[in-house]
Amino acid sequence: MMIVITFLGTVSGIPTKERSHPAIVLEYFSKHKETLLFDCGEGTQVQFMKAGISFMQVEKIFITHWHADHFAGLIPLLATYSLEKRKNELKIFAPEATKFVSKILELGYFGLRFKVTPIDVPFSGNEPSLIDETKNYRIFSIPVEHTVPAVAYCFHEKDRWSIDEEKLREKGLKRGRWLRKLKEEGVATYQGQVIRVEEVARIRKGLKVVYTGDTKPCENVVKLSKDADLLIHDGTFLEVDEANGKGHADVAQAAEVAKKANVKRLILTNISRRYTNLMELEERAREIFPSTQVARDLMRVTLRNEIV
Ligand SMILES: [Zn+2]
Repeated sequence: MMIVITFLGTVSGIPTKERSHPAIVLEYFSKHKETLLFDCGEGTQVQFMKAGISFMQVEKIFITHWHADHFAGLIPLLATYSLEKRKNELKIFAPEATKFVSKILELGYFGLRFKVTPIDVPFSGNEPSLIDETKNYRIFSIPVEHTVPAVAYCFHEKDRWSIDEEKLREKGLKRGRWLRKLKEEGVATYQGQVIRVEEVARIRKGLKVVYTGDTKPCENVVKLSKDADLLIHDGTFLEVDEANGKGHADVAQAAEVAKKANVKRLILTNISRRYTNLMELEERAREIFPSTQVARDLMRVTLRNEIV
């Protein structure tokens, strides 16, 4: 199992020639590959093409908030899906999703022949909400502090048992169908012998990734990203001041959040176009949280499970 994250767009507010509006693809590889999209700024389709990833396979889109730089790519994407005769349902998760998705669909003659399902996620309170669950993972949202209703999302893969070959050999056990039952039910019988899963397997920790969208530093993000493998945080500014600080974080504040939440790795994104020297931002954040990178467009990150 593996997660590949591709940053399609990494700029905040106004794009540049090098940096597109926010959009992050999460490809989850298990038995089948799933493609999830977080935010969908202008230019998302073209960025998908440059990254060599098919946008036709996206089944779920998670919009953090309804500022145009985070959603304007939805309109052309829906039009393309229509032209390409998409059949499968598209779910769009967001605060106030029902309201804004219906407004988008009223903006033109899309002629959709597939189902678009908006799913509203809560945008007040201090607890994570479980908004989606499959056999392999759960997705949570939590309200963040921006200038409009906004949330952060957490992709959390479920823990799984991983069979330890050495322990099997030690106990004189052979592989077979009984191992599937053991992993699913925690106990199984092998040639009359009752085996408990913890005797022959170790836990493969589920991967955890959090994306904040636009936000000031806040406790809700610390809560949601506790011990995450990767935190992708708003790092709009080198330093926030009275004039620019509305609803965004600076790189040092984001690094403080990462440290408090004890995440393994921090990637800063939604960087203001005013910064052309990204090393300066990286260095400032690394003084507080060494395992920090600043996202570049089309940057790719691979995460693999740890077995404990
Ligand atoms: Zn915003």
